[in-house]
Amino acid sequence: RGTTPAGPPARQPRLTVLSGPSGVGKSTVVAHMRKVHPEVWLSVSATTRTPRPGEQHGVQYFFVDDEEFDKLIANGELLEWAEFAGNRYGTPRKAVLDRLEAGEPVLLEIDLQGARQVRESMPEAQLVFLAPPSWEELVRRLTGRGTEAPEVIERRLEAARVELAAEKEFDVTCVNTSVEDVSRELLALMLHRSGDKSTS
Ligand code: 5GP
Repeated sequence: RGTTPAGPPARQPRLTVLSGPSGVGKSTVVAHMRKVHPEVWLSVSATTRTPRPGEQHGVQYFFVDDEEFDKLIANGELLEWAEFAGNRYGTPRKAVLDRLEAGEPVLLEIDLQGARQVRESMPEAQLVFLAPPSWEELVRRLTGRGTEAPEVIERRLEAARVELAAEKEFDVTCVNTSVEDVSRELLALMLHRSGDKSTS
């Protein structure tokens, strides 16, 4: 409302988790966020998946082999991790906690299994479900990437069917009608602190 609050706002550094079915456009939203809001810090996951053309170590992912991933798990270095379509993905713990400690909002883009683990270990996290405009649109996106083998696509479709039903476990749903709109909504959610009054 433009008035100065009487005391300092409840400083709850906010962890926001963006999840949803594979192919719904999570990484496109995140890539857009990276471009338009380079000041927003995004967690970079470790994965055993092979890089796709154009992907760079340390930017989209830290690409590691199975042995290195085992070590990350054994040393407790992952906040959460999951196996998805034959590869493992995990969130490096320290970088995330350091950012939250510094009072900065943090965004994770992870699969549903990972989102559930975060819900358990950090119940204050805000879980955002990215939903496709329709099932047909999701199938179109999953089959249209053109970089995966047919059996990989089939596995991802099956996972997507199950994952769509998870929407009810989330705090907020954003429908991915446009990347710009979703990015804007997501940023607003990230910057909104639990101690804030609604000003809209
Ligand atoms: P892709 O191979 O298409 O980059 O990612 C496959 C899936 O893994 C996506 O649903 C993505 O959100 C998820 N993913 C990426 N990083 C992580 C992570 O650190 N943890 C978990 N649990 N899932 C992740």
